[in-house]
Amino acid sequence: MSQSIITTIDQLQAQFDHMRALSRKKPLNSWIDREALLDSLETMLAKNQQVFADAISQDFGHRSQDETNFAELFPSFQGIAHAKKHGKSWMKTRRAGISTLFRPAYNEIQPQPLGLVGVIAPWNYPIFLSIGPMIDALAAGNRVMIKMSESAPLFAEAFAQAVAKHFSPDMVSVVVGDVDIAVAFSEMPFDHLLYTGSTSVGRKVMAAAAPNLTPVTLELGGKSPVVVLDDADLENVVNRVMMGKTLNAGQTCIAPDYVLIHSSLHSKFVKLAKEWLLKHYPNIESNDDYTRIINDAHFKRLQGYLSPLPKEQVVPLTNVEADAEKRLLPPVIVLNPDPETEVMQNELFAPILPLIHVNGLRDAVEFVNSRPRPLALYIFGEDNKNIDYVRSHTVSGGVAINEVIMHVAQHELPFGGVGESGIGAYHGKWGFERMSHMKPVFVQSKLNAMSIMLPPYSNLFRKGLKYLTK
Ligand code: NAD
Repeated sequence: MSQSIITTIDQLQAQFDHMRALSRKKPLNSWIDREALLDSLETMLAKNQQVFADAISQDFGHRSQDETNFAELFPSFQGIAHAKKHGKSWMKTRRAGISTLFRPAYNEIQPQPLGLVGVIAPWNYPIFLSIGPMIDALAAGNRVMIKMSESAPLFAEAFAQAVAKHFSPDMVSVVVGDVDIAVAFSEMPFDHLLYTGSTSVGRKVMAAAAPNLTPVTLELGGKSPVVVLDDADLENVVNRVMMGKTLNAGQTCIAPDYVLIHSSLHSKFVKLAKEWLLKHYPNIESNDDYTRIINDAHFKRLQGYLSPLPKEQVVPLTNVEADAEKRLLPPVIVLNPDPETEVMQNELFAPILPLIHVNGLRDAVEFVNSRPRPLALYIFGEDNKNIDYVRSHTVSGGVAINEVIMHVAQHELPFGGVGESGIGAYHGKWGFERMSHMKPVFVQSKLNAMSIMLPPYSNLFRKGLKYLTK
């Protein structure tokens, strides 16, 4: 029997078989069907906003309600609205160009649903990173199975219950449980598998998908650098970088990870960052706007990064101490850590901000290029020539100029990584196409020259070919 909430590997297999068979029998070819699914998604989200936000806050030990509204619910609603507005035109079969040699035949591209799409979601923005892939998959006419993160179990349960209420298990089902079921999930022969999470697990997911030749979109992590050019407005740099580092307590895939900036500006940066923190997060120990670290393992990981560093390198931005019991980690700056230390080897995913000395933009570009391709790169400065130099000499998933993070909220832009930060991109039309088969169709005309292209090959054929290949 089909079911919406999957908790065992046997159920997973049965539900997978059921949904896959349906995707072959009853492809969602009409916009009306797809729009109805997007409507259900919107209604589900609207009705469960508070339930979801509360569950997430409990999973985190406290997550700012405003952050959930701003960084999860708002982009999810926007994404649904965008897909509802444009989906009908995205799915239209359209003409493609054709060489005069083949005319009057014509070419078309026909977007088609892939069938059954698997989504593996992480804990850090569990609403947006579940809803976002679902929007694209459903708009493209697919059925969806989604595996929730075991690190946000209360949200996973609330989401599964909500989906069960608003969707038929023929269309969407939710898998909850730990890593064992996640592994089994990644081994299912989905028509497409979209995974969001760490690069190390991303490698395992791709390996699990390979025997099935399941195409993957891997939305991974990494260290996203900030390049501060000589003419940057430092106050603005600090304002934006600190915003990105404190939002969700730095637990954002595209949070600015470290800053490349001349050492003559380090002490001014620290001073401005302290002032910024006092202004925006007064009494941080009890400030509802400040989110906690997701679990003890991550809290310990971060303490393990900081504790081996020389004391003079670690600059707290407030007098409030870290509190392991509450998993409260006030922001700190790390001055010029050795590139071999853990803070510079691992994605931080925390309110820890290394400032690294660089001598000019070429030095900064060399630093970035000596490391894995980042998910995001941020450039602060005024001179367009210098900004262009950095843009065109680095390769990253995305770029924001004189800003951080906001590129993820642009439905007209693809979002994804490159190299170790990911494979493939989604959101809006890009996600629709990623989750569709963009099928090329050649339509022959009654009037055509194919008969001269048959053996025994004539002189006319040979002369014609010679002319065309000379
Ligand atoms: P996580 O621990 O919640 O794991 C993500 C998902 O992977 C979970 O659903 C989990 O069950 C599953 N999983 C775990 N082990 C697995 C395995 N062996 N096989 C298959 N699935 C498995 O999340 P996380 O990895 O801690 O998430 C944080 C990371 O995600 C960071 O690196 C961050 O940068 C990255 N991230 C990337 C994006 C993006 O859009 N590129 C967005 C958010 C987070």
